[in-house]
Amino acid sequence: MNDYISKSQGQCPMCKSHDINYDTFVYEGDYGYYPYDCNDCGNKGKEYYSIVYDITSTRINEQEANKILKRQHDK
Ligand SMILES: [Zn+2]
Repeated sequence: MNDYISKSQGQCPMCKSHDINYDTFVYEGDYGYYPYDCNDCGNKGKEYYSIVYDITSTRINEQEANKILKRQHDK
């Protein structure tokens, strides 16, 4: 068996079918993958994704919000 690499998100690289079953996302540090198997030809593989930082979200009360605003204003 040889490794075959392709850019074919949502598509089987062998038969080009979009009828793919995805398993649970597997995290591996900065990247992760969905194991898939094709419903048309039975090809199995992993669809890899980079995990890129976007934003941090949290819930804070009004007092904490004012503290942060003041800190930003003082800079
Ligand atoms: Zn296929």
